[in-house]
Amino acid sequence: MPHTITVIRGDGIGPEIMDATLHVLDAMGLGLVYEEADAGMAALDKHGELLPQASMDSIRKNKVALKSPLTTPVGGGFSSINVELRKRFDLYANVRPAISFPNTRSRFPTGVDLITVRENTEGAYSAEGQEVSADGDTATSITRTTRKGSERIVRYAFDLARRTGRKKVTIVHKANILKSTSGLFLKVAREVAAQYPEIECNELIVDNTCMQLVMRPEQFDVIVTTNLFGDIISDLCAGLVGGLGLAPGANIGEDVAIFEAVHGSAPDIAGKGIANPCALLLGAAQMLDHLGMPEKATKLREAIVATLEAKDSLTPDLGGTGDTMSFAKAIATRAAA
Ligand code: ATP
Ligand code: MG
Repeated sequence: MPHTITVIRGDGIGPEIMDATLHVLDAMGLGLVYEEADAGMAALDKHGELLPQASMDSIRKNKVALKSPLTTPVGGGFSSINVELRKRFDLYANVRPAISFPNTRSRFPTGVDLITVRENTEGAYSAEGQEVSADGDTATSITRTTRKGSERIVRYAFDLARRTGRKKVTIVHKANILKSTSGLFLKVAREVAAQYPEIECNELIVDNTCMQLVMRPEQFDVIVTTNLFGDIISDLCAGLVGGLGLAPGANIGEDVAIFEAVHGSAPDIAGKGIANPCALLLGAAQMLDHLGMPEKATKLREAIVATLEAKDSLTPDLGGTGDTMSFAKAIATRAAA
């Protein structure tokens, strides 16, 4: 049975990198059916709202969406459409792979192959209790950690490791200082880890994690952590392997999963046809894993590596003279072979 996925072309460079990505997926003959849905500025222009009900319905029905970057206008009713999507579908797991690629401006052109699994609904980012005192001199907020929230994110990380043949999960915390919240997370994480005896597990305090990541990133495989730490660590990891143009992410819930590039809509280069499509393509590879096509996902990643290795039609951000579509075609040829 062919999979139907919701495709959101997005804003800025969004449509360009989506065309490129769908070109590659089509060349691979995966039998995917695309259902287009609007969100962001494109939706505001066409339908008068940023997140039309029809788009929400499409995502809910298909359960899987591939999404380009969206622009949230100031005063549009949401602080961020991406955050709004996460809330509405309870997308509790933010999953961000960081892989070394050749011929990028990375400090680690080899040796990094890790995934950060970030809890995305609670912790220091729960919107609750954000208060500034009447005199404006004291600000407080609530960090809320729950057993349910901790358990489902750690379980997601271990299941991911098991499913994809990864060997080790590192639990990142600060339980020595944040004894209640990070302490609960660590306690629950240990309980879950005990249920996966075949997967090596270690614990690391977040500050040490940052140092270790920069010094010896090859020691990491899967990292699981709470919202704030995961936000920072996943960007650090993107930086290790060459930055935004190569960083994909997935937002995953019980029912729905949305796959995307981590970067924004890059209005400075929109319409020029020079955006690097790799981040969204790598998001598509995560989607293929999720859809139960791991061989195809691997094939796509290998095609990207081989194209980078050959410096074939690379976009200007990678130092090449190619453009979005020529780069995509070079990848498609290898992915379809
Ligand atoms: P937004 O407001 O949507 O976040 P932004 O301007 O912050 O947009 P980012 O995507 O965060 O855009 O980009 C920051 C910088 O990185 C920009 O100069 C942009 O041109 C560049 N950039 C981002 N994505 C890509 C890409 N896929 N290919 C090439 N350059 C990119
Ligand atoms: Mg930005």
